[in-house]
Amino acid sequence: MGIKTLSELNPRNSKVILRCDLNVPIKDGVIGDPGRIIASLSTIKKLLEANCSIVIIAHLGRPKGEKKRDLSLAPVAEKLTELLKREVKFSAEITGVVKQAQDLKPGEILMLENIRFESHETSKDESERIKLATELATYGDLYIGDGFGAVHRKHASVYELANLLPHAAGDLISAEVKVLEELTKNPSRPYGVVLGGAKVSDKIGVISNLLDKANVIAIGGGMVFTFLAAQGKEIGKSLVEKDLIETVKQLLIRAEKLGVKFLLPTDIVVAKEFSSDSEGTIVASDKIPSDQMGLDIGPESAESFASEIKLCKTVFWNGPMGVFEFSNFAQGTKVIAQALTQVEGIAVVGGGDSAAAVRKLGFEDKDFGYISTGGGAALEYLEGKELPGLVALK
Ligand code: ADP
Ligand code: MG
Repeated sequence: MGIKTLSELNPRNSKVILRCDLNVPIKDGVIGDPGRIIASLSTIKKLLEANCSIVIIAHLGRPKGEKKRDLSLAPVAEKLTELLKREVKFSAEITGVVKQAQDLKPGEILMLENIRFESHETSKDESERIKLATELATYGDLYIGDGFGAVHRKHASVYELANLLPHAAGDLISAEVKVLEELTKNPSRPYGVVLGGAKVSDKIGVISNLLDKANVIAIGGGMVFTFLAAQGKEIGKSLVEKDLIETVKQLLIRAEKLGVKFLLPTDIVVAKEFSSDSEGTIVASDKIPSDQMGLDIGPESAESFASEIKLCKTVFWNGPMGVFEFSNFAQGTKVIAQALTQVEGIAVVGGGDSAAAVRKLGFEDKDFGYISTGGGAALEYLEGKELPGLVALK
């Protein structure tokens, strides 16, 4: 990819602006899975050792340019303080803090509030993004991009800001790119891709682009039902994207022509309500009752996906197989996670919810070849797209 690494730039005694991905699940001010904060530590520690001061820029959720209290990064600054055993100052202001930033002494850290509270961060208007980036650029002398989960976004702090200062990729981005390069350049075969999660529209592009690269593609999660609908099956009240049914039909025809093993579930766990105390019933995937919805893949499907996965030498998995947040519908995801841990080769889990799911289900990071912090970003990389946040770090 030709991105500049941290060691190539070798910052010393510098005022660094660091873009991280600290977009962790937070409920009532309490952080759920801190995976992305932990993944950001390596670069931060290296910069501190190199006697740098750091201004951290990050985002949380999608506040759409408005201040939203429940999307404040303040709890993240606290967590980072705890993990680093060093004070992380927090600025509720994003613009107008040039003095505070420039006054930082070596070893001091200042985290800015959720950058997406500024509408210019995500603006479609380039001049607005440049305006914000130009202000942010006064906060330091160097830019380090390490927020892998956001590199597929052409946002001011991801793209324009990098262009305004000497820059490099942090350790996390370098590690992510190394793994994803391995998956795209010359994967050991068979190469399996498992996709789940809620929306087909998020992943239809990647499925299409992987049809001629992967040997096995298994589909679970909420998007299964658009596939089943495309096969003319009754899907009851399950999640469906009707406008994509035709696209999915074409995709299934192409898959057959290319000879890729395309696995869809043969049984489904259904329930009447989308609720944590719903009890599931297992039905054949062509016998979903009209008043019920599919919330997980069934045990027969999970076992058949698992046995195919275990034969693969390269596996990429994004998107839970079911509504893992409810324990009655987590079993499919658990069986697939277990299969990935048994792959003799490289097995990569990508995506915020997917990573949170495997940790919630009791797996450890070391059980997998790699857990990517990026969902959308990892998928777009695998699709072969140019990612603005990586292009900017060349
Ligand atoms: P990631 O963050 O790993 O990229 P996604 O955001 O695409 O994953 O999808 C995760 C979400 O998909 C989870 O919240 C999960 O509850 C939901 N999901 C999985 N299966 C279903 C289903 N059958 N019906 C509704 N939602 C589902
Ligand atoms: Mg998600």
